[in-house]
Amino acid sequence: MGAGTLIPWCHDTLNWWIGCTKFAEECAYCYAAEQDRRRFSLTLKDPIGRTEGSHWGPGRPRHLVKSRLQVLGWNRFPFVCDACGKQPIKGTGAIGDTCRREDCGKGVLERRRVFTGSLMDWADEEVSDAWRDELFRTAEDCRDLIFLFLTKRGRNAMHYIWKRYGVEGPPDHFWGGMSYMHKRPEDVAYLINTPWRVRFLSVEPMLAPANLCYKADGKVYNYLGGPNGIDWVIFGGESGPGARPCNITHIQDGIRQCRAGGAAPFVKQMGANMVCDNANLYDWPEGTELIETDLVHGFASCRVKFRDPKGGDMAEWPEDLRVRDFPPI
Ligand code: SF4
Ligand SMILES: [Zn+2]
Repeated sequence: MGAGTLIPWCHDTLNWWIGCTKFAEECAYCYAAEQDRRRFSLTLKDPIGRTEGSHWGPGRPRHLVKSRLQVLGWNRFPFVCDACGKQPIKGTGAIGDTCRREDCGKGVLERRRVFTGSLMDWADEEVSDAWRDELFRTAEDCRDLIFLFLTKRGRNAMHYIWKRYGVEGPPDHFWGGMSYMHKRPEDVAYLINTPWRVRFLSVEPMLAPANLCYKADGKVYNYLGGPNGIDWVIFGGESGPGARPCNITHIQDGIRQCRAGGAAPFVKQMGANMVCDNANLYDWPEGTELIETDLVHGFASCRVKFRDPKGGDMAEWPEDLRVRDFPPI
C-alpha cells in the first residue's frame, strides 16, 4: 500500500480516464460506477430505478483526467517502503535499502507499483486507441515504475498488446492482469495468450471457487506458473453495502492452487460478508465474533464480524490466510 491508495497490492492508482461499462456479474456493485453516479448523475435511470453516472455504460463519453501526467513525477521518485508505503527521506535510495524513517525503520524499499486504473478499464472498447496510445507511450517512458494493467476485457487487451508490441512483447515493467469472472473462467486464456512478461489474476470479488485449470485434449492443465502461466493471484471478498458472501474455503483453495501451480498468492481482504462453516470455526483468532446463520448440510454456518469494515486487517484472519506474496522479478 502506498501514500496514494488504500489498495494493499499497489502503491498508486493511475486513472487516465474515468468511466466504463459493466461487463460481468462481478461488476454489480462496482464502487467506481457508484462514485460516478454520485458525482455526475444523469436523469436517466438504471434497471432498478436509480440515476446513472454520466460516464458509465455504452455510448457514454469517458472523462479524460487532466492530472494524468502526474505519473511522470512519480517516475522521478520510484521507490517506496514495503512496510510504511512512504518514499525514502529526501527521495533517494535503492531497491532493498532499509527504510530510515523513524516511525518505521523495518521495511525495505521496492519499486512503486502503479495500478492502471481503479475508475476505468484500460481495454474499454468505448475509448479510442488515441487515448490508450497516449497512456502506453507515457508508461513506456516511466521505466522505473511497475505498471499493473488490469482489465476484464481480456480479448481487447490481447489484440491491443499484440498490435502494439508484436512478438517482442511489452516492456518488462508492464505487468498484465485480468479480473477472474466466475461465469467466464475460460477468458483467462486471453491473458495466457498475451505476451506479458508478468501475468496476474485478480479474483475479486471472490463469489465462488476459482478454477485455475483448463481442459484440452482430454487432459487438465494449470493456468498457473511456467513461462506463459500466471505468476501472481490476488484474492478478496466483496466490501460495501450489499456485499455478496465470500466463503473462506474458496480463498484457502485458491492459495493451495497457487502453491501447487507455482504462482504467488496475495490475500487482499476478507470482505464485508465472509462466511465459514464447522470446519473453520476454530481457525479464527480468539475473540472473533461469529454470527450463526443457517445450517448447511446439518453443519453450523457462520458469518464473521470484523472490526475493519472491509475485513482487510490481517490480524483478524486465521493464520493460514495471512499471505501477501509477490512474484519474483
Ligand atoms: S470493468 Fe471494472 S471499472 Fe468497469 S464496471 Fe466492471 S468493475 Fe467497474
Ligand atoms: Zn518504512
